[in-house]
Amino acid sequence: MADHADYEAVIGLEVHVELKTASKAFCSCSTAFGAEPNTQVCPVCLGLPGVLPVINRRMVDYALKVALALNCSIAPRCKFDRKNYYYPDLPKNYQISQYDLPLAAGGYLEIEVDGQARRIGITRVHMEEDAGKLIHQGEALGPGAYSLVDLNRTGVPLLEIVSEPDLRSPEEAYAYLTALKAVLQYLDVSDCKMEEGSLRCDANVSVRPRGSTAFGTKTELKNMNSFRALQRALAYEIGRQIEVLLHGGEVDQETRMWDEARGVTVTMRGKEEAHDYRYFPDPDLVPLEIDPAWIERVRAELPELPAERRRRFAEQYGLPAYDAGVLTATRAMADYFEACVALYPQAKTVSNWLMGDFSRLLNASGLEVEQAPIRPEGLVELLKLIDEGTISGKIAKTVFEEMFATGRPARAIVEEKGLVQISDEAALAAIVDRVLAEHPGPAADFRAGKEKALGFLVGQVMKATRGQANPALVNRLLRERLQGP
Ligand SMILES: [Zn+2]
Repeated sequence: MADHADYEAVIGLEVHVELKTASKAFCSCSTAFGAEPNTQVCPVCLGLPGVLPVINRRMVDYALKVALALNCSIAPRCKFDRKNYYYPDLPKNYQISQYDLPLAAGGYLEIEVDGQARRIGITRVHMEEDAGKLIHQGEALGPGAYSLVDLNRTGVPLLEIVSEPDLRSPEEAYAYLTALKAVLQYLDVSDCKMEEGSLRCDANVSVRPRGSTAFGTKTELKNMNSFRALQRALAYEIGRQIEVLLHGGEVDQETRMWDEARGVTVTMRGKEEAHDYRYFPDPDLVPLEIDPAWIERVRAELPELPAERRRRFAEQYGLPAYDAGVLTATRAMADYFEACVALYPQAKTVSNWLMGDFSRLLNASGLEVEQAPIRPEGLVELLKLIDEGTISGKIAKTVFEEMFATGRPARAIVEEKGLVQISDEAALAAIVDRVLAEHPGPAADFRAGKEKALGFLVGQVMKATRGQANPALVNRLLRERLQGP
């Protein structure tokens, strides 16, 4: 009997990303998010008769950056087409897009899953404009329910990035989207906020018997609103298709929607309803010629990208691959790390703090690295307080939390709260003697050769001093007394 393990998934992703240009793709309206509905519109993006679109040069610059970062070939000449369809959020009844002559094609993106690096092909990258946004009121479009339209988003520049069907699992799809988002953020061309719609993702999914090279019938998945939703939707859909095949059925070519609440995909429209967009070249826009000098100028402006930075972090700072991956996942974190290391060249110590307490507090507070109340100078001051023996590593964790909560400097918190480490030998010796007197059992164990008993005794001294004892000194004093005459 065949089962799920006898099948493999074939996944391709289509990602739409809003470019964060100041003005729209073909007019000078603002693209700022969150403005009053329908205040950022003009005759051009409203599609009123007799107006002419003009290409936003910045949009092309940004699109070129992305295409080059994804290792694509740039077409020396591309054009814009009209994709015709009727929808209430599309006042022109067509969307300006690129059809048979896209800006760029034939690239790849490197991903890493379970320590294995893979290259995922990029089929094409093209420019288009966004449509408006419908806001549905009420449960369904019954009596009394209605929809509102906000056309501020109409004409915002979009990039469509289509991958080859090279992904083989939901985990790989997740890794691809994560890697792509990192590249876009390093390039600083998009906010990449799925919740604000500036990053959107559709997936094409099919399954086939393992070992087969033919493609199965694919479905298109829509409505995944987070990275997690993409992964869950794919896992569900792959399982569903395999079940259909195992029961002798056939997968229908259709568009399915992810229902987050129920955790299932449902039919949205079948093949027979597939759109025929009747693309034709936009007569108002001349073909776009991109000369080699333009490409080279953009290439020269490319920043160091996540994969290169990850490799450099491992080499230059001697960090484990895992640390280098975490620290370079966002440009902001990588910059933060390098700002710290410039002031305090112990890379692994800085890395531990950033991956540990710093990331934990950021997650708990929902803040981005840029918004962290502790700046690199603040963290470095704390690390120096530990090094000079003013506070113990344990106390430092408490101080760090306080710094994060209040934004106050480490030294001020330490002085105010009386957290200075006890390094006074006479004071500690008295406490050590008391602890030994109170715990004769562990003391005898240590003398009998049980090294582990020392840990317990150190712990008791730390407890007695509320974590303020200098651990190195406590260790030395305990050993002296236990090994002494
Ligand atoms: Zn406009």
